[in-house]
Amino acid sequence: MSTEQLIHSRSTALFVPQLVYFEPDAMLYPKGKRILEWAQSQDLPIHMTTSHNRITNLPGETDLEKYRISKRTLVVGIRKTLKFDTSKPSAEYAIPIATGCMGHCHYCYLQTTLGNKPYVRAYVNTDDILKAAKDYIEERAPEMTRFEAACTSDPVGLEHITGSLKEYIEFMGKEPLGRLRFVTKYHHVDPLLDANHNKHTRFRFSVNSDYVIKNFEPGTSRFHERIEAAGKVARAGYPLGFIIAPIIWYEGWEQGYEELIVKLHNTLPKEALEDLTFELIQHRFTKTAKNIIERRYPKSKLEMDEAKRKYKWGRYGRGKYVYPDEQAAALREFITEHIFDKFPAAKIEYFT
Ligand code: SF4
Repeated sequence: MSTEQLIHSRSTALFVPQLVYFEPDAMLYPKGKRILEWAQSQDLPIHMTTSHNRITNLPGETDLEKYRISKRTLVVGIRKTLKFDTSKPSAEYAIPIATGCMGHCHYCYLQTTLGNKPYVRAYVNTDDILKAAKDYIEERAPEMTRFEAACTSDPVGLEHITGSLKEYIEFMGKEPLGRLRFVTKYHHVDPLLDANHNKHTRFRFSVNSDYVIKNFEPGTSRFHERIEAAGKVARAGYPLGFIIAPIIWYEGWEQGYEELIVKLHNTLPKEALEDLTFELIQHRFTKTAKNIIERRYPKSKLEMDEAKRKYKWGRYGRGKYVYPDEQAAALREFITEHIFDKFPAAKIEYFT
């Protein structure tokens, strides 16, 4: 077997947590009971906690060990606040489904938003959440309302445990004025293929050049797995999208991103081309994120040299470092031209 075949024969495994915590209210919901049975069937260590905020005694000698174990800890609870955050530019609202992710992408935005509580929280009061979504849809009618389900986690990576995403998809399938979107780096899409989506859900995959995926995205599905999953999703009739993010400037980036677009073009079935979107996001970082990444992934090759970047002022004085205008323009032009060349009917939603 060649190295290439060997890599392709290895499949990224489904997430199985190392520890599971239940908040007591979770047991009042059928989904909470189902997850408990699943955890028991897997022989996982199960604990009760009055609240996820009280989980302080995770095993591990060093901060780094504790961090890695937290990422493999599942907390099952209910979503108390049913006020949804806004989610520009891709949707009107962020719909809660879970918080936290088992992946180890060095630049993951959750590193700063979740601070020292990076465990994976799954919410079991799905009906309450969908009822709140319905109210938001009615409030905006006759306008369409789009909900983003991947603002605080990667919901596909958890679907085999919760089944929530399929419920959200089928709920939106019945809503004339509701649309769902989410993005994933996981290829475990099979349970979603027979959902009654009614084309109301845009299924997006986060993709990147080989160099970026190999160096910065451990713990997620490999490129070929994501692209095969994208083909399945397109054949199941879902509108499809790709987020190329973060776009990184490195030695050889032109070749890397050109290869990415060519591979997408050569692999996708024709069904995928009918309704295809791209979202392009250049790499950026804040000082806080840089400090956290350097602590948690000390060997990372991720370039975060402020001197090579442009400072972009943000709200509340929280600015970020982006590529200087000339580099950003070169990235944007190169990638958009290649997308238009290979996918003339696709829509590029934004470059930011
Ligand atoms: S897959 Fe997404 S949510 Fe999970 S660690 Fe990577 S960037 Fe973060």
